[in-house]
Amino acid sequence: DLVAVAVWARGTQGIPRSSGLPDDLFVHDGQITKRSVRALALSALAPRPGERLWDVGAGSGSISVEWALCRGTATAIEAREDRAANIRKNAAAFGLAHRIAIIEGKAPEVLAPLDVPDAVFIGGGLDRRMFDAIWSRLAPDTRLVAHAVTLETEALLGELHQQHGGELMRVEIAHAAPLGRYRSWDAARPVVQWSTVR
Ligand code: SAH
Repeated sequence: DLVAVAVWARGTQGIPRSSGLPDDLFVHDGQITKRSVRALALSALAPRPGERLWDVGAGSGSISVEWALCRGTATAIEAREDRAANIRKNAAAFGLAHRIAIIEGKAPEVLAPLDVPDAVFIGGGLDRRMFDAIWSRLAPDTRLVAHAVTLETEALLGELHQQHGGELMRVEIAHAAPLGRYRSWDAARPVVQWSTVR
C-alpha cells in the first residue's frame, strides 16, 4: 500500500485528481470508508484550496487525505490509538503530514480547543450529544456531512434531516463476485449520507 502510493506519486503519472482512491492505498484495519462511498463523501464535502476540515471518527484518515490532496488542511479526530497511528502513516505516505493534524481522543470533548472548520465529516461516534456540541460551534455556511451504517445512527440522521433540511441519501452498492462457476452481486451494507449547510 505505502509502496503503491510512492510509485504513483513519484511515477510520471502522479496521483489521480479525482476522489475515491483505491482502499488498498491506505493502511487500514477494515474500518475505512470504501472507495465509491468515499468519493460521494468528498463530493458532498466540496473541498476548496485552503479550507479546513474536521474529520470526526477519522479511522484510517482516508477522508482527511483526500481532502488534503485538494490542498486543504484537515484535523483528523480518532479515539483509537492504533487507528491514529494508521492516520499518521497514511498522511506521511501521501506527503501530507504538514496538512493533516491528528488528535487522538474522543469527540466532542477534544474539539473544544480547535479552530472552527469550513466543513465537518462525521464518520463515527455520532449521537445527539455529539451533534449538538458540533453544530453549536459551527459558523454559518459550514458544510456538514455525516454517514450512518447502523439503524440507530440512520434514525438520528432522519431526525436531523427533518429539523435542519439538507440532503438525505441512501447508497447501496454491489460488486460482481464469483458464485460457483458464475458471478453474482455481493452487496455492501447500505450507507446513509446526510449533508447540509449550517
Ligand atoms: N472515515 C473513516 C472510517 C471511520 S470508522 C475512514 O475512511 O477510514 C469510524 C471511526 O470513528 C472508528 O475508527 C472509531 O474508532 C471512531 N470513533 C467512534 N466514536 C468516536 C468519538 N467519539 N471520537 C473519536 N473517534 C470516534
